[in-house]
Amino acid sequence: MWLTRRMSTVPAPELGAVLHLLRDGRSRTRAELARTTGLSRSTMSTRIDELLRLGLVAPVGDAGSTGGRPAATFALAPASRLAVGVDLGATHARIAVTDLTGHELAGHLEQLRIADGPDIVLDRVATVLAELVTGLDRPLGDVVGVGVGLPGPVDHMTGRPTKPPIMPGWDGTDVVGALRQRLGNIAVLVDNDVNLMALGEHATALPDVEHLLYVKVATGIGSGIIADGRIHRGAQGSAGDLGHIAVPGAEPVRCACGNTGCLEAIAGGGAVAARLTEQGVPARTTSDVVDLVRHGDLRAAAAVRDAGRSIGAVLASCVSLLNPSAVVVGGSMSRAGEHLIAGIREVVYSRSLPLATQHLRVATSIAGARAGVLGGAHAAAEHAFAHPALLTRDAAVSAPESAAATA
Ligand SMILES: [Zn+2]
Repeated sequence: MWLTRRMSTVPAPELGAVLHLLRDGRSRTRAELARTTGLSRSTMSTRIDELLRLGLVAPVGDAGSTGGRPAATFALAPASRLAVGVDLGATHARIAVTDLTGHELAGHLEQLRIADGPDIVLDRVATVLAELVTGLDRPLGDVVGVGVGLPGPVDHMTGRPTKPPIMPGWDGTDVVGALRQRLGNIAVLVDNDVNLMALGEHATALPDVEHLLYVKVATGIGSGIIADGRIHRGAQGSAGDLGHIAVPGAEPVRCACGNTGCLEAIAGGGAVAARLTEQGVPARTTSDVVDLVRHGDLRAAAAVRDAGRSIGAVLASCVSLLNPSAVVVGGSMSRAGEHLIAGIREVVYSRSLPLATQHLRVATSIAGARAGVLGGAHAAAEHAFAHPALLTRDAAVSAPESAAATA
């Protein structure tokens, strides 16, 4: 179904169909490609020649003799085009350049305050991105798309941040336009950072898990929902906003959102640090908490496990509602080791119905701190395969505009 939709959106539909087929990395003969796509042998030969000229496809070898000359086989050339993932947090920017299969070719991490506003932050992102691509000896025109994750709510239709609490000056910013202004006609997708982390975890570590709940535990708490292999965003794009669900039976602690007893106010990194400080163990940030746990501080370990229990209490409802087969825990607090996961597991398994937890895995993220950039690059590559004109255009020719991530 979606193949037809893809084909109808490109000027040369056959090219899109061939690329879509070859995306799995397998090599095929012209005859095989013609048979599967329903194109004539001669049309297929022309298309293959075109893809070879564009560098998108490479000859691999022969498929063995069928009596006469061995038939040449062709495969996608993954490094022929580039995708970029950008993960912006409250105080960091991470950028990765990947090939079309998500293999990272270059990466960069630096301290960058999102609160400095869109002009400063996006200037810096554009500069680093261009340097990374140039460092690979490639033109910017080889980039088929940039997937950007922002630490706040993003309107799914426009790709603009919407009243993001920790991003002063960003409300309603045209991030797509701002980056295209700096980088030229590159397709830009903007999404909430946790959605891209969920996508990155799914694409790189758990491709076979169709129902996955990715939970980011850091200063803030949020989640990304993969349902039927796709991101579930809800009506306005705010699905997965775990941080402001009330923890059952919790103290009425005041939350930054104005409510009391929110998960973030009870179990977020800042909340745990504040509680430890009250107990005479000075801590200010999530990193302080993680450092304390890693240095064997028992009170810190107990506080993290407690936070895990509160998260588990909210997740138990989510597990009953969504029936995921994996709950993946990422974010900086997950670096505190098994204590967080142990607390989460304890409550999720005891509070959810047996059918929901029978095959449920609760585990720490495998993609780790790179989940967001890998998800962003993956979304950009997905988008390009869905709009093959982005792949088949020659470098430096203009690309169609796009807003929110479609993957
Ligand atoms: Zn709240």
